[in-house]
Amino acid sequence: MAAVNGERLLDCAICPNMCRCECPVDQEWRREASSPAGKARLAHLLLEGRLEWDSALLEVLSTCLGCRGCQLLCPFPGLDLSRELLRVRTEVCPAGITLPAAVPYLNNLKKFGSPYGARRSGSASRERQGRPEVLYFVNCTAQANNPRMQQLTLELLGAAGVSYEVLDQYCCGYPAQIWGDLDLARQLAEENAARIAGSGASLLLTDCPECWHTFTECYPCWGSELELPVIDTATYFLELVRQKRLKPGPVKEIGRITYHDPCIWARVADKCEAPRELLQSIPALELEEARPGGQETRCCGGGAMFQLTFPERSARIARRRLSELPPSDALVTSCPFCRENLQADGAEVLDLVELLSRAVFQEKDE
Ligand code: SF4
Ligand code: SF4
Repeated sequence: MAAVNGERLLDCAICPNMCRCECPVDQEWRREASSPAGKARLAHLLLEGRLEWDSALLEVLSTCLGCRGCQLLCPFPGLDLSRELLRVRTEVCPAGITLPAAVPYLNNLKKFGSPYGARRSGSASRERQGRPEVLYFVNCTAQANNPRMQQLTLELLGAAGVSYEVLDQYCCGYPAQIWGDLDLARQLAEENAARIAGSGASLLLTDCPECWHTFTECYPCWGSELELPVIDTATYFLELVRQKRLKPGPVKEIGRITYHDPCIWARVADKCEAPRELLQSIPALELEEARPGGQETRCCGGGAMFQLTFPERSARIARRRLSELPPSDALVTSCPFCRENLQADGAEVLDLVELLSRAVFQEKDE
C-alpha cells in the first residue's frame, strides 16, 4: 500500500467540509471530529506530530465507511479520503493500539481465518473434470450468516452447465486491513493466492464487493497478485443469461422491486449497469429506482465492517437509508453487508442471486 499522501490530507483538512451532507457518518454523528474534513484535520495533526495516538483518536479515524460518498461533492479530483484514513490507520498507527471492538474479530481471523469464528466445514465442493471454468470464493459474511447463498450460486452455475470449484478459502483480508493489521491481511492474501493459483480455474467469481476490491486493488500491492480475472456474480450471470444458458421466468408474488446499489460496486467498480440489466432480464419485473441511486447511492452503514465494530450507529445509518427507498414488493441488493444491514429491523432483503435463482428455478418447477 502506498504511503499516506500528506498534501491530499491537508487539502481535505482545510476544506470547509463541502461533502458533509453526503457523509452517512456525519449525518448520523453530527460531530465536527467525525465529519470528513474533521477526520482529515485530526489525521493531519497526527502526521505533523502535534497530536499523539490514543484509542479515542483511533476510534474517530475509524469512523469512515469507505463509501466514497464524499467524492460526489469533492472539489479535489482524485482525493480519496477513505483511502488516506485507511493508510493512516494501517501504516502510521503504532502497534498495540487497536479498536477495542475489533479485538475479538481479529482474534477469530488469526485462529480460524474468518472474523466470524470457525468456518463451516465441508464448504469446498466441485462439479468438474479437469480444470474448472469458475472458482467460487464464498465471502465470510454470507458463509457465516446466509449460507444458502453458496447453494443457490452453485445451482445456477450447474443449471448453466458451468464447471466450478468452491475455494476452501480464508477471509480475503479486507477486515484485517480495515482494523489496521496489515501483516495479517497480507498473510491471508498469500494463503488465498496460493490456493487460487493451485485450482487452475479460468475465472474467480465473487458476490462481495469488498472481496472484489481487495483482490483487484490490494492483492497486487501486497505481492499476491492473482493471475486470473476476478468477476462479480451480476456480470457473470448476466453473461450466462445473454448466452441463453440461464433462462429467468417471472417470479411469483414479486412484481416491483427496489434495487439498492452497494457503494463499492457503484462508485469504485463502476458496476451499476450489470445488476439492472440482469433484473430487466426477469420477465414482468418492474424496477423502482432508489433516490439517490446508481453512482450517487448512499451507504447502508455496513461499510468497513461497521456492523461488528459500531453496531448501533451502523443500524441507525441503515434506517436512514431505508427511509430513502421507495416501497415495492422486495428490496434487492448485491452485497452481503448491505443485505444484512438493511434487514436488521425486520425488512426482507434479497441478494440479486437469490432473486435470480427464484426466477430461473420457479419457472422450471411449473
Ligand atoms: S468515505 Fe463515506 S464515511 Fe468515509 S468520510 Fe467519505 S462519505 Fe464519510
Ligand atoms: S473529502 Fe473533499 S469535499 Fe469532503 S471535506 Fe475533504 S476535501 Fe472537502
